[in-house]
Amino acid sequence: MSTVDLVSFDDALATYDPVMGLEVHVELGTRTKMFCGCSTELGAAPNSQVCPTCLGLPGALPVVNATGVESAIKIGLALNCEIAEWCRFARKNYFYPDMPKNFQTSQYDEPIAFNGYLDVQLEDGEVFRVEIERAHMEEDTGKSTHVGGATGRIHGASHSLLDYNRAGIPLIEIVTKPIEGAGRRAPEVARAYVAELRELIRALGVSEARMEQGQMRCDVNLSLRPIGREKFGTRSETKNVNSLRSVERAVRYEIERHAAVLDEGGTIVQETRHFHEDDGTTTSGRVKEEAEDYRYFPEPDLVPVAPSREWVEELRAGLPELPRVRRARLQAEWGLSDKDMQAAVNAGAVDLIEATIAEGAPADQARKWWLGELSRTANETQRELAALPITPAQVARVSALVKEGKLNDKLARQVIDGVLKGEGEPDEVVEKRGLAVVSDEGALTTAVEEAIAANPGVAEKIRGGKVAAAGALVGAVMKATRGQADAARVKELILEKLGV
Ligand code: ADP
Ligand code: MG
Ligand code: ZN
Repeated sequence: MSTVDLVSFDDALATYDPVMGLEVHVELGTRTKMFCGCSTELGAAPNSQVCPTCLGLPGALPVVNATGVESAIKIGLALNCEIAEWCRFARKNYFYPDMPKNFQTSQYDEPIAFNGYLDVQLEDGEVFRVEIERAHMEEDTGKSTHVGGATGRIHGASHSLLDYNRAGIPLIEIVTKPIEGAGRRAPEVARAYVAELRELIRALGVSEARMEQGQMRCDVNLSLRPIGREKFGTRSETKNVNSLRSVERAVRYEIERHAAVLDEGGTIVQETRHFHEDDGTTTSGRVKEEAEDYRYFPEPDLVPVAPSREWVEELRAGLPELPRVRRARLQAEWGLSDKDMQAAVNAGAVDLIEATIAEGAPADQARKWWLGELSRTANETQRELAALPITPAQVARVSALVKEGKLNDKLARQVIDGVLKGEGEPDEVVEKRGLAVVSDEGALTTAVEEAIAANPGVAEKIRGGKVAAAGALVGAVMKATRGQADAARVKELILEKLGV
C-alpha cells in the first residue's frame, strides 16, 4: 500500500525527538442521547432511534442529558482536572451528511474539565505522567456506509447509506497536552496511556470503552523536531485508530515517515491521515481545517452548565478506587512480582484472577491457570481471555479438585480442556472422561507389583539403595494408569514393597 520511503526507527530517534498529542473519544454508556430522549442501544434497525432534535428538524430544541454531564465530571475528576464552574456548549459548523443538523454540538473554549494528568506505568515499571489539556462534552455523528466500491471508502462508491441512530450519542473527548520527553518510548507511552484511560473509564462505569466496537477511538497527533530544538515540528493527525496495538504502530510508523520526509529536506503538511490495520501504514486524508473553518459560536439553544461545588465534591467522594491503585493493592495481596503483574494486566487477566480467588482458589493457582494454560488457548484461538467459555468459578473448582488430591496437574489440564470444549462443569468432565486420580490402594498396589515384576533389574538396584532409580518404576505405573495415579503415593508404595 505504501510507496513512501521510511527511515528506520533507530535512525529516526538518533536525529529527532517525537512530540505526540492524543485525542481520545469515548462514547458514554448513557441510556439516552446527549440532547434528546432517543435510545442509544446498539444494533437497532437503521434510523429507528431518531427524533426531530437529533435529526436537526427546524424548531426542535435540545435538552442536556444530566447523566452525560455527570459522567464528564467523573472523568475529569479521575483525570485530576479542574472542573469548570460555568461552561457552555458551542456549535461546530460543518456541512457533511453524517451530521443532519449541519453542526455538531460540542464545547470549544469552555470545556467542562481542564488541566489534569494521568500517570501511566510502562513495561519496565517506570511511571510516565501524561498531562491532560481538556476533557469536553460533545455528540457523535451518524454513520455512513459507502456502497459499490472496492474499499468501502467514498472513492469509487456508487452510493452511500446513512444511519442516524448514532447521531447525538454523548461523547467525551479527552485531549492531552503535547507529550514530550518520551523519546524512543513514544509508541509504548501512547499505548500505555490509551490502555490506562480505558481501564479508568471502565472503573468509573461510564462506558464499556470497547475499542473494537468504536466506543473508544484515538486520534494520534505526531511531530518530530531535531533533537535539542525547542520549537515543535508540524504534526500529522492519524484519525480513528481503533486498538491499542494500532495506536502503538501508528506512532511508530509516523515517526519513521516524518523522519524520511525531513531527512530529504521536505516539509510535513498538516493533514489528517488514515491508519491501515493490514500493513500498519498511514495514508493521506484531508488537509486539516483550522478552527475558524468551523465558525464556532456558543450554542444559543442550551443553558450553560454550572455544576455546583457541592455536586462536584459529592462526585469526587464517590470515585471508585482508580485502576493503578487497585492494581498495586492486588499485586501486594497476591504476592506477584512486577513482571507477573504486568503480564496479568497485558493479558486482561486481572479481573478474572480476582474473581477466581473470590470463588475460593488460592492466588497462585488462579494466576497459574489464567496466565498459563488459558492465556495460551486464548492466543492460539485469537480470543480475549474473558471471552473463553470458562468461568472463574469453574477454574476455582478445578483448583479445589487438585487441592483435594482428586486431580493431578496433568488431569486438571484435561478437565480445563473439557470445560472449554463445552463438555460441562469440571465435575462432569471428570466423570465423563474418567479423569479422577486413581487413589484406590488396591488398584495402585497391583500396578506397582506389575511394574516391579516387569523391571527386575531396576528393582534390584533400588533394593541395593539406589532410591533415585525408583523414578523409572513410577513412570511405568503412571503409564499403566494413563497418568491418573498420584505419583507421590506410587513412589511410597514402590519403596515400601521393596523394603527400602
Ligand atoms: P485539533 O482539533 O486541530 O485536532 P487539538 O488542540 O484538539 O487540535 O488537538 C491537537 C492535539 O495534538 C493535542 O493533543 C495537542 O497537545 C497535540 N499537538 C499540538 N501541536 C502538536 C505538535 N506540533 N506535535 C504533536 N502534537 C501536537
Ligand atoms: Mg483533532
Ligand atoms: Zn433524538
